Amino acid sequence: MTEGAAQILVVDDNMDHNCLLAELVSLFNYETFCATTQEEAVRLLEEKGIDAAVITIDDPLNGFQIAQHIKSMEKYKDLPLAFTTSDDFDYPTLMEAQYYGGMFLHRKPYDDVELLATLSSMVRVKMLQDELKERMQELDHLASTDVLTGIYNRRMFFIRVAEEMARARRNESPYCMLYMDIDHFKSINDTHGHLAGDFILRSFAQLVDQTKRKSDVFGRIGGEEFVILLPDAGYEDGVMIAERVRATIEETDINWVGKRIPVTISIGMLSVPAQAVTTADELMKLADEALYEAKEGGRNRVVPRELEATEAVARPFGFL
Ligand code: GH3
Ligand code: MG
Ligand code: MG
Repeated sequence: MTEGAAQILVVDDNMDHNCLLAELVSLFNYETFCATTQEEAVRLLEEKGIDAAVITIDDPLNGFQIAQHIKSMEKYKDLPLAFTTSDDFDYPTLMEAQYYGGMFLHRKPYDDVELLATLSSMVRVKMLQDELKERMQELDHLASTDVLTGIYNRRMFFIRVAEEMARARRNESPYCMLYMDIDHFKSINDTHGHLAGDFILRSFAQLVDQTKRKSDVFGRIGGEEFVILLPDAGYEDGVMIAERVRATIEETDINWVGKRIPVTISIGMLSVPAQAVTTADELMKLADEALYEAKEGGRNRVVPRELEATEAVARPFGFL
């Protein structure tokens, strides 16, 4: 709901009706914006944060068309609407009003009490809608974020990876995947405690988050395992970025209760050439194999790999 009083849009080419409605609306301390043409109505909708609208379907205004326009605007697709008419209305008109999203249809001259009840119902609906949207956003955030580090969790990471893979395929662009694992993390926990371990996970995520590009997709996929997908990056870029991340972690002072805890990471870097056809599981498996080699090779290092070019497909019709 817009901060402060609810904002009501009244659309009627008859200024007297507008004034009458505005007067009624002010009884509830709502704010009224009046429009006498469709253009004016659209301008007000764009400029203000309207919470409910009362629109006439009398000629010459085409109230249903205005309603249709309102529903096509992303921020107003659920806007509570009421229609008004000077004519006696029949069942088909009532159905039409409902079809265009009207919660109420009122006959002019208005019954003040009825109209006030309509307004308060619409504002109440809008308030509940806003609360629901806010809750949904909170839930979306919770469902996609790793609680400890604030970056994507495993679930969201894979959703974003699928999107990026599809985009890379469409644009025929290469990309890289960095599978990162903190070295000897168990012994950090054992030596400094679990809280220190958590602090290091947060510090690591923060450091990478600060240095990555906006388009890079970064997620925590397990305890001390993180993956980053670098869109529009070739093999050389992947090696350079992986090496930069590795060096940053090694060189940054991460201090816990006044004591520097040395942290290093191992990285399996997989470069995926343009046009390659593969799956997220396959990428993870190959990047994980490279990571395993980095661990075997002594840790604190990057092992790069490139997806076999044989995976690339011929595109005889240009749309496969
Ligand atoms: P390596 O160099 O081979 O990766 O050794 P490692 O000790 O890092 O790997 P290992 O898989 O043996 O240990 C991972 C540890 O990470 C064990 C687990 O208790 C710890 N861990 C997992 N999640 C969390 C967490 O959320 N917080 C903390 N503090 N520790 C965690
Ligand atoms: Mg580890
Ligand atoms: Mg691990």
